[in-house]
Amino acid sequence: MLTDHHSANRTTVLAIVAAVTCLTLTSCTTVSAQDDATPSTSGSSGPPRAADGVLPDHTSAYDTDLPGIAKLDPALRKAVQQAEMAMKDDGIKMQVTTGWRSKKYQEELLDKAIRKYGSKKKALEYVAEPDASHHVTGHAVDIGPTNADDWLIRHGSRYGLCQTLSNEIWHFELVTKPGEDCPPMTDPTKN
Ligand SMILES: [Zn+2]
Repeated sequence: MLTDHHSANRTTVLAIVAAVTCLTLTSCTTVSAQDDATPSTSGSSGPPRAADGVLPDHTSAYDTDLPGIAKLDPALRKAVQQAEMAMKDDGIKMQVTTGWRSKKYQEELLDKAIRKYGSKKKALEYVAEPDASHHVTGHAVDIGPTNADDWLIRHGSRYGLCQTLSNEIWHFELVTKPGEDCPPMTDPTKN
């Protein structure tokens, strides 16, 4: 009985982990895998590329030659760089999975989410409108892997960095003064 219960819990946990991983892929990482399967429908301009903010794997906050990093708000970029160095001292290798994104890239992500979730209302729980996205203005970063997210959730406020969306443990913004508490998070599922 106890074993069955434990096993059911474990299955639930695994399902949640799988769901979160899936969401991470949708909202935050490179689109190359999806592009293989789905030709762009956005005409001759093609799918989003580095110029739209797509970042390669293992991007550092110091990779300022990449538009996705170069077009971040300078204060946010500096804070993320400081956190990256501090994390490195703790043995954690951080990567920026998304920094700045072009409007076009954000639109494409939202379109994909609408197809995936079946409605715009549901999609907006995971992907913001181009005019509302803090990635488009350069005021948000998505960080991976999970141990780097955990570190930032615990120590990010030293640099003014806070998780701002309750359903995205990887999404951070510069929203407090270094050393002060983080403000309450927004819950995008309650709109
Ligand atoms: Zn984000």
